[in-house]
Parts: sequence; structure tokens; C-alpha cells
Amino acid sequence: MSEPLTEYQGKASMEKITSLAKRRGFVFQSSEIYGGQSGAWDYGPLGIELKNRIAQNWWKEMTQLQDSIVGLDAAILMHPRVWEASGHVENFTDPLVDCKQCKTRFRADQIPEANLAAKHCPECGGELTDTRKFNLMFKTHIGPVEEGANTVYLRPETAQGIYVNYKNIIQSNRMKVPFGIAQIGKAFRNEIVTKNFIFRTCEFEQMEMQYFVKPGTDEEWFNEWRRRRWAYYEKIGIQMDHLRWHQHGPQELAHYAKDAYDIEYLFPMGWKELEGIHNRSNYDLTRHIEYSGKDLQYIDQDHPNEGTVSRFIPFIIETSAGLTRTLLMVLCDAYDEEKVAEKGSGGTGDEWRTVLRFHPNLAPITVAVLPLMKKDGLAELALDIRNELKQDFATDYDQSGAIGRRYRRQDEAGTPFCITVDYESKDTGTVTLRFRDSMEQVRVSRAGLAERIRSEIKNYTRIGSSS
Ligand code: ATP
Repeated sequence: MSEPLTEYQGKASMEKITSLAKRRGFVFQSSEIYGGQSGAWDYGPLGIELKNRIAQNWWKEMTQLQDSIVGLDAAILMHPRVWEASGHVENFTDPLVDCKQCKTRFRADQIPEANLAAKHCPECGGELTDTRKFNLMFKTHIGPVEEGANTVYLRPETAQGIYVNYKNIIQSNRMKVPFGIAQIGKAFRNEIVTKNFIFRTCEFEQMEMQYFVKPGTDEEWFNEWRRRRWAYYEKIGIQMDHLRWHQHGPQELAHYAKDAYDIEYLFPMGWKELEGIHNRSNYDLTRHIEYSGKDLQYIDQDHPNEGTVSRFIPFIIETSAGLTRTLLMVLCDAYDEEKVAEKGSGGTGDEWRTVLRFHPNLAPITVAVLPLMKKDGLAELALDIRNELKQDFATDYDQSGAIGRRYRRQDEAGTPFCITVDYESKDTGTVTLRFRDSMEQVRVSRAGLAERIRSEIKNYTRIGSSS
């Protein structure tokens, strides 16, 4: 394992990432033609492919590859008592201060303590208001009458949908502790400060897994899930020296947590949380028993003393990652600028390329098929190959402009493989396979193309880094 870096040395900056994301159709500002909606973003054609790929990859890792985990898709709107039981109505607050002069709003825990103590604005030096608690849950009403009895919340996390269904899943799927439930879905938080592009938004997606274990085995499972989640990032090709652990101190621990670690990523703006791994103890289920009046104890049928059953409230180990925040991480991690040619003798400048070095399992487009020329039947042959490959891969077809420019466009979209069809292809049944990272080109037979690409994906290791 490589040592984490001490400071960001990569080539990506938030400005470059935001501008590339817009230019190439990864992410657009929400309602841009009306001046934008803060805290909300839209995912364009490449962005939705990347987001889906990240979600599918996580889902496979957390369900298909785990014998003891099943999936769930719970509703966003839940009974309001859920949020009383979970502690969100009372505790899900951020401390808020405003500057009376420049009107900037801050999270009190995100400005220097000296400013807070002296009540001086860190931006303009003006006077700050007292700190007040601000609940992050979005509130709305079911039905036409806006009254207390009809209040519902947009869920601020997906986890509670899992807890309230845990008994249903045990009964319908005959699950035995230890087992887990995985879910991907939208969550909403009325964040005070939304900045850094899609890092912190009011509407986002989470990928959460809750693992139910016998009390007393929770620490062991907590360590095991920390290990598995760390290994996952290596598997999807993330530069491991850009990741580190951060353990929550006593002040930071959430009201439900017995122990908590974050996996942090070195974003262009510094080390920030990517995923939380929490030992939530039996807090959530205990509270739901109390508030719902239902018996949510687990009945252990396999108890070693024959003829007896034991009952307990499982402890929960949670792995909670933001899908949209992971997408930002993947974009930053993949981003690279590389000099591809020295200054030409004719006085032309050095030639550079921008390249997104996505793992092929995550790349929005896996294979692009490019005819060298449109004429002489090359376009038809290339389209034929594309139609064949699209049964198995996400493909693109591009016939416009010089071939070098078309490669650059695919590099910038992060396409790991380009297939070029040339005159030789017509005679010999071979094509050129070009690799994004090394820019190397090899001649391969058209017949075994899909098989060859599959094997390249399986054996992929990144060449070139962003730092
Ligand atoms: P913070 O303290 O930074 O507000 P948190 O510790 O409350 O965040 P969790 O409740 O642990 O965050 O959420 C789990 C994961 O969900 C985070 O690691 C992050 O990836 C994602 N997440 C949380 N809030 C947001 C948000 N506003 N926008 C995008 N992703 C978010």
C-alpha cells in the first residue's frame, strides 16, 4: 500500500473539472437558462453513463459478490415518525451563523474558531450573528392542506428505509444474521453551504449497505467492512495514495455511533470525506422498537443450546458512500494532462492532450469505432463493426475530422479503446486497436475483437497518473 500524499499535486482543479464536465456533457448546472439552481446539478449523456456504471459496479460488489447481502429500493417519503425515532428531527442540525454586513452564511463548524469567538466574519470582518441550529431536512406536505398532521420529509439518508424493512426481509428471504441490505437512492439535505461543484449538494444519491450482526461481533465486522471497502477502491483503479482513513473523535461521533471511520479522498480542494463506515450499535433498531411498538428483535433459531431460542437486537455496521460524490472523485482521479509531442521545428507549440484515465469498467464509452476515411466502404465496414460490438459494450462511432482529433475527443471522454478501420481492414479482416493510456496501437483480427476487448478490460492496469 502506498503512503497517502501530504498535499494535492494533481493536474485537476475544480475549475478545469467543472468546465470539462460541462463541455463534454457530464454535468450541467440545474436550470442554467434561469440562472441556475444552487445545490442541484443535471447529468448529461456521458455523466449519466458514468453514474450508472459506478452504481452498477457498487451494486455488483455489494450484492452479487456477497453471499449474505440482498438489495432494497425503499420510498423517499416515509412515515414522519421514522425521523423522530432516528433522531433526525431533534439532532440533524448544522450550526449556522450569518454576517450582518456582507450577508454571507457559514456553517459555524467550518470557520476558524478565533473568528467565531470574536464574532468576526472571515470574509469581510463584519459582525457575525449568534450561532443557531438549523435542521437539514426538507419538509413538505402530503395532500392539499398544509398542516402539521400532513408533514412529510424528503429522506436525508437511505439507511432508515433499510431499518424499517429489516424484519420483512428476514421473513421473506430467510436471512440469518450476519447479513446485509444494500440500497442506492436519492437523499436530500438543506445544506447551508453548497460549493465545490457536485461535492456537497442539496439533492444527491447515496450507496448504502447496512450489515446486521450479533452484539459482541460488531467490532470484528466493523474492521472487516473497513478492509473490504478500502480494497474496493483499489479494484476500481483509484490511485491509493489519494485515499486515507480518518477516525471520528469523541466530538465528531454522531449520536448513534459507537465508532466511525471515513475514507477520505485528496480532492483538488483538499482531503474530504468520500465514504463513512460506522458502527451504529443497536441504536436505530432500539429506537424503532420504541417508536413503532413492534418487536424488531432477531430470533436466533440456530442457538447452540438445543430447544432454546435466543433473541437480540442486532448491531449495525454501515458503509455509506455518496454516488454523486464518488462520481466527482472518479472524475478528479482520472483527470490527466499529458504532453504528446515536443515543440515542432516549424515553431508550433508543444502538443498536449487531456485524458480521463477511467477504469474501463467505469468509462461511459468502452469502445469507439472510427473509420479512417468515410469513403471507399470504410464507413460501412466501421458501422458494421460497431453494430456487432454494441451488443456487448457501450460504443461510440465517429467519422468526422482528422483521426488525431478524433482520438483526442475520445481521450477527453475517457474511452479506453478505439478501433480504427482502414484500407488494410478491407483486405485482411484486421483493424487497429488503440489504447487510451499508452496511445499504443496494435493490429488485431476483427473476428476475435469482442473477446480481445473483454480480456483487456479484465487485465487493465492504469498507465500514467494525475500526480
Ligand atoms: P458532512 O458532515 O460532510 O455534512 P456527513 O458526515 O453528514 O457529511 P454522512 O451522513 O456520513 O455524511 O453521509 C454519507 C455519505 O453521503 C458521505 O460520505 C458523502 O459521500 C455523501 N453525502 C453526504 N452529504 C452529501 C451532500 N450534501 N452532497 C453529496 N454527497 C453527500
